[in-house]
Amino acid sequence: MTHRIPLSRPFISGKELEYVTQAISRGATGSDGEFTRRCASLLEDQFDIGKVLMTPSCTAALEIAAMLCDLEPGDEVIMPSFTFVSTANAVVRAGARPVFVDVRPDTLNINESSIEDAITERTRAIIPVHYAGVACEMDTIMDIARRHGLLVIEDAAQAVNAFYKGQALGSIGDLGCYSFHDTKNYVCGEGGAICVNRPDFVERAEIIREKGTNRAQFFRGEVDKYTWVDIGSSFVPAELASAFLLAQLEQLEAIQTLRKEIHEFYTHQLQPLEAEGLLRVGRIPDHSDSNYHIFHILLPDVGTRDNLLEKLREDKIGAAFHYVPLHSSPMGNRIGRTAERLRVTESVSNRLLRLPLFCGIAELERTRVVETIKEHLCLTARRTIQPKAA
Ligand SMILES: *Cc1c(COP(=O)(O)O)cnc(C)c1O
Repeated sequence: MTHRIPLSRPFISGKELEYVTQAISRGATGSDGEFTRRCASLLEDQFDIGKVLMTPSCTAALEIAAMLCDLEPGDEVIMPSFTFVSTANAVVRAGARPVFVDVRPDTLNINESSIEDAITERTRAIIPVHYAGVACEMDTIMDIARRHGLLVIEDAAQAVNAFYKGQALGSIGDLGCYSFHDTKNYVCGEGGAICVNRPDFVERAEIIREKGTNRAQFFRGEVDKYTWVDIGSSFVPAELASAFLLAQLEQLEAIQTLRKEIHEFYTHQLQPLEAEGLLRVGRIPDHSDSNYHIFHILLPDVGTRDNLLEKLREDKIGAAFHYVPLHSSPMGNRIGRTAERLRVTESVSNRLLRLPLFCGIAELERTRVVETIKEHLCLTARRTIQPKAA
């Protein structure tokens, strides 16, 4: 009997219970306590970020970011269609319209050369999504944004502890958003953070995060009572979740090293199949230091992908595909604007497969994944004409 290999499994550093117990035994479970503050300072110090505010999720961080942009009905925000729904929802909830552009075939990140053609007089912001923890072309994107007077919100949900030319992802745009969801590299069940990289945004970000009140200023003694001053919502995380998260963040590098080894194992083992044109593995450009969040392969066509996925699932291997492109979803189609034919997005979403990647996946398990892929693809290749993965 073979056992099941999941797509991902949260890493436990060993100190989580101790920190959660500490918070409880000190009676310090209220919001923005010591552990929440320590998580924020650790991220600020480690990644050279002016201000980090912890949030209950990356979705919440994206919503704060969209509120900070003061979007109005009819305003447009440019983003890839190949992303998770939260990127677009934040913009829609703030009253604006997502404008979808294509991704690059190598990194599956927003195609920076598609951005300028999508800009209209209603465009207010660009949201680059660092897919799989690999950096978007940030120099070009920041340059376009400056020339057109647009804000940049980095969706760095998958990119905690990843870098572009030495700068931490999330710290480059005007705002950056992190996720600590159970499926990400550093976890606390549900969690997130917003990097406020512009000092002039900090005060308002604090207010929005505290339900539209100046409570943060009150606790610093800057005002003598706190009251409702702006829009906002409940965007402060639970202290117990932060206690758990701190134990993870203290192991940033150890976790990354483990993931890197698995990523490199797959890359190396699948190289012969890539050389034969049976699949393609993701690219990490030289300017990018990845955090190895996702390992994905691209198959030659949707049929091969679906058959391989079925085969892996039969062998109890938790492979998966994503995303259903947002422009083709019922909501995205109704509410968004598609700036161009999204050829790469449509093609890769049909051909992509993610392989199990988590700290502690055993050598035997990884080998089983690779062997199942090899067996299936070589068998299929022998039966048909040699396909070529573009
Ligand atoms: C996971 C993810 C999110 C949402 O993060 P949550 O913390 O679950 O809200 C947003 N964008 C991208 C690209 C993601 O991968």
